[in-house]
Amino acid sequence: MSVNQHTHAGPPYGQPQPGYQGYQQPAYGGQPLPGVPHAQYGAYNGPMPGYQQPVPPQGYFPSLGFPSKGSPVSLNSDTSLAPNLIGSVRALPTSGAPPPASGTSLPSGHQGYSQFGQGDVQNGIPTSTAPMQRPPASQPFLPGSAPAPVSQPSTFQQYGPPPSSVQQLSNHMAGMTIGSTSISAPPPAGLGYGPPTSVPPVSGSFSATGSGLYTPYTASQGPPPPSVPQGLPLAQPPFSGQPVPTQRLPTEVPGFAPPPSSTGIGPSSYPPSTGAPRLPLMPGPPLSGQTVAGPPMSQPNHVSSPPPPSTLSGPHPGPPMSGLHGPPPPTHPPQPGYQMQQNGSFGQVRGPQPNYGGAYPGTPNYGSQPGPPPPKRLDPDSIPSPIQVIEDDRSNRGSEPFVTGVRGQVPPLVTTNFLVKDQGNASPRYIRCTSYNIPCTSDMAKQSQVPLAAVIKPLATLPPEETLPYLVDHGESGPVRCNRCKAYMCPFMQFIEGGRRFQCCFCSCVTEVPAHYFQHLDHTGKRVDFYDRPELSLGSYEFLATVDYCKNNKFPSPPAFIFMIDVSYNAVKSGLVRLICEELKSILDYLPREGNMEESAIRVGFVTYNKVLHFYNVKSSLAQPQMMVVSDVADMFVPLLDGFLVNVNESRTVIASLLDQIPEMFADTRETETVFGPVIQAGLEALKAAECAGKLFIFHTSLPIAEAPGKLKNRDDKKLINTDKEKTLFQPQTSFYNNLAKDCVAQGCCVDLFLFPNQYLDVATLGVVTYQTGGSIYKYAYFQLETDQDRFLNDLRRDVQKEVGFDAVMRVRTSTGIRATDFFGAFYMSNTTDVEMAGLDCDKTITVEFKHDDKLSEDSGALLQCALLYTSCAGQRRLRIHNLSLNCCTQLADLYRNCETDTLINYLAKYAYRGVLNSPVKAVRDSLINQCAQILACYRKNCASPSSAGQLILPECMKLLPVYLNCVLKSDVLQPGPEVTTDDRAYIRQLVTSMDVAETNVFFYPRLLPLTKADVDSDSLPAAIRNSEERLSKGDIYLLENGLNIFVWVGVNVQQGLIQNLFGVSSFSQISNTLSTLPVLENPFSKKVRSIIDMLHLQRSRYMKLIIVKQEDKLEMLFKHFLVEDKSLTGGASYVDFLCHMHKEIRQLLS
Ligand SMILES: [Zn+2]
Repeated sequence: MSVNQHTHAGPPYGQPQPGYQGYQQPAYGGQPLPGVPHAQYGAYNGPMPGYQQPVPPQGYFPSLGFPSKGSPVSLNSDTSLAPNLIGSVRALPTSGAPPPASGTSLPSGHQGYSQFGQGDVQNGIPTSTAPMQRPPASQPFLPGSAPAPVSQPSTFQQYGPPPSSVQQLSNHMAGMTIGSTSISAPPPAGLGYGPPTSVPPVSGSFSATGSGLYTPYTASQGPPPPSVPQGLPLAQPPFSGQPVPTQRLPTEVPGFAPPPSSTGIGPSSYPPSTGAPRLPLMPGPPLSGQTVAGPPMSQPNHVSSPPPPSTLSGPHPGPPMSGLHGPPPPTHPPQPGYQMQQNGSFGQVRGPQPNYGGAYPGTPNYGSQPGPPPPKRLDPDSIPSPIQVIEDDRSNRGSEPFVTGVRGQVPPLVTTNFLVKDQGNASPRYIRCTSYNIPCTSDMAKQSQVPLAAVIKPLATLPPEETLPYLVDHGESGPVRCNRCKAYMCPFMQFIEGGRRFQCCFCSCVTEVPAHYFQHLDHTGKRVDFYDRPELSLGSYEFLATVDYCKNNKFPSPPAFIFMIDVSYNAVKSGLVRLICEELKSILDYLPREGNMEESAIRVGFVTYNKVLHFYNVKSSLAQPQMMVVSDVADMFVPLLDGFLVNVNESRTVIASLLDQIPEMFADTRETETVFGPVIQAGLEALKAAECAGKLFIFHTSLPIAEAPGKLKNRDDKKLINTDKEKTLFQPQTSFYNNLAKDCVAQGCCVDLFLFPNQYLDVATLGVVTYQTGGSIYKYAYFQLETDQDRFLNDLRRDVQKEVGFDAVMRVRTSTGIRATDFFGAFYMSNTTDVEMAGLDCDKTITVEFKHDDKLSEDSGALLQCALLYTSCAGQRRLRIHNLSLNCCTQLADLYRNCETDTLINYLAKYAYRGVLNSPVKAVRDSLINQCAQILACYRKNCASPSSAGQLILPECMKLLPVYLNCVLKSDVLQPGPEVTTDDRAYIRQLVTSMDVAETNVFFYPRLLPLTKADVDSDSLPAAIRNSEERLSKGDIYLLENGLNIFVWVGVNVQQGLIQNLFGVSSFSQISNTLSTLPVLENPFSKKVRSIIDMLHLQRSRYMKLIIVKQEDKLEMLFKHFLVEDKSLTGGASYVDFLCHMHKEIRQLLS
């Protein structure tokens, strides 16, 4: 075969259609469906027969074209090495405790909500009655928990008229985990990603999503730190168990010391800020029956009111800031922004940040120590605090479900734990936007420079309390779509002419309603079956796809997993090969399954390789596995088909025998060289021959220098950093892998890569196929069994088990006036609209940017519809639809009031990280700074009240933009430290590209928790503190996590008793900084800390590496790198300095 051949020959999904090429309007009859597709899916149109296991692939036979080693070799020929263990017959994976309510009982409660502000949209979300309540969510994939398919529409009669909505609401509240989750108890299975750290995962145990995963802590944080006034009392009492937000103490009056002259920001006295009060927040989504007359004021900052005169500070050029911490002026109306004032006589004058510009590793001054004579500078307490913003949002919005029935509603922050009720718009777990109010014109959008983007996670896992999207089966006719733009039926389509036709909400085209879909309208113009149909009443749902949505007009076979293990010298010697083989024996019982299927439909195959490839025949009828060696790697083919991909249960004995034998067979290998390209080619060929999609799990250790296609050379050169050629470090060194990736995408072959390098192996090149096929990459540098095996095994278990769709194509449609113009993420695009992913798992996120192509109207707003066509793990072809309606504005102030900075940062980081491929890093950084300065200058110019040019006025919703942006600028990709390798940078770059908003949030601004402040008797987490060295006390122990690492920092003065309790040693000097886990000690402090760490692991999609850092130890440099508010050792600005710099930039733009 020719690997360079472009086999991706156009859209394989039928005839091109206007608007949605490749997906034909189907006409098909009755698709078989697994007994129950998803645990919560109620099929709408009848039960379906079980899915058929496909016939084993035909084609190759071992005797055909087997090149070098002749006939199959029985592995058992060396009997001394092959004990022929009968693979321990493992019980079928059992689910964790199944959720009590499995979806068969349908809650009857209803909740009303307001209209979209458009009285004329008849088929939008209802105004006062509620859609049917979905069955309580249970966890996906839990066998036994799936409801029987709801087979007839009449079933939905039981939804009936809405009973008391209050009851319903309280039920939901009772279901929330806030305040009731014990940290020391095992977390609810649905809360985190991944299996418990040391217990073999249970099938289907991954049911939580990344968003809002701070669950158990939210309510138990204790009273919020006393600094920000909540302008007005909450309209709703806080959720039970949640502390009532307290008034900030006026003692923390913000003040600004003059900045040091080195900041270049002129004179310097800051009058005290009158911290602008927050507006009363709408504490949550509207409740039943409540009418919201407009977009909820979820972001309290108003732009209409003048700043308090007393805050004006004259012509000072220094950085006035949004003073968050001042007591609220009692009568103040909402403020356009917080003003930071200059007046040296007010507020605290802080010393410089410790170690400012000082050379590491000097003895730092910790916060509690008196510093050197203080050059007066901006008081860090008076500038916007991420911790405070997070706390405020938790207090204000964590207690009520977020109901999606209102257009343009800004959701709670990703750091807030909240439940979502789908009432017509997609949950923020699926889609988050940079702004929920879009400028009506492109001129406005350009003026503001605020990027319009959506961060979409189509297969996001939901917490167990929420309901998975329903699966709708329209039978042979398939989903109802607009004739012109091919948008799918959704709550915003408007039925007219008595229900005989509908007008498209995206393109306005009128389409006949198919006879089978006809339904009468009620007196409000709404279809009477509104609540019976998810596609009319919900923001997210799925359609069963017909054969027209399938490649070659043929229903897909279930996918296959192929495990491909590097057995070169390093892999064997480190114990990795043995570890992987041992793990595979048990992990194969936890392959993804659908609904209540007894076993996974996924077939498995095994390959080992070094310079040559070894395929294994594990057919169930064999007494022993057979090995076939392919040494002609230049033209890769698969030497056997029958017996290569097998059902785990049928071939259990042979597989177990194989996995026992592999480590023995290669125990004495001296082969150090590896190939890589042929490995992927082999997997791809195997899937092609089996005519199925699938995933390759490749465990690889070294730069592939052996003679073969895709051979690489070591081209690492750190001298290129900060030169115009730096970008080449991020570019693949050959186009071979790009071409291979195309072939993989065409076949639905997703590649997950586990790397174990001891030196440079060119992640930028090896990662190409992983990246373009939607796969995941994991890296364990200098892998050591003792310290790294837990992390690797947890990652592997989760990766094998997680929900994944194959052969996926995503299209985002928009209403007239805007369109999707740019995409960021791990995927391949062969045209400008369709995002193709060989595999898409529940953690993968695609960021989409929109641009205007016409004017928008405030009345009609803007709509997005994300349609994802994919093959489920059982081989079922489906469409998942997410709809979101946004507001449109003619006033810039409305834009700034409805932005979400966390999402903005997600977009900006991905934009910048892509930029380094083509531009010098410095240019990328400058462009980021410039864009943000323009965003803030536009606000200042058009939205803020007139005030001194010396004031920095930040929009309330963007007051964290400077601090977060600075974190992006200082990140390893854009400003690497000396210890950061080229591979690290390429790796991080690839990870960030697929991150969701919660992940980028904690990645760029890590969470720092004072462990010694934790209350061992409560469930609560200690309140997080800001990421600065001056917040650390040498008498305390802290934990810092960023999604990839967990650091435990121990101060030099920590009490001996605490050290004993946590580490089991008697003194600071005896603490080992090579620990990869904390010792299990029977005392409250140890238990508490370990439970916190376990909880954090469950919240993240990857198992974090634990690193113990002793104060003043050499590892502390690594730790300080994550104290992102401080000046970094590599020259990254401190938060304070960066803020001053931003202010200067803004003033230049305004002058
Ligand atoms: Zn249309």
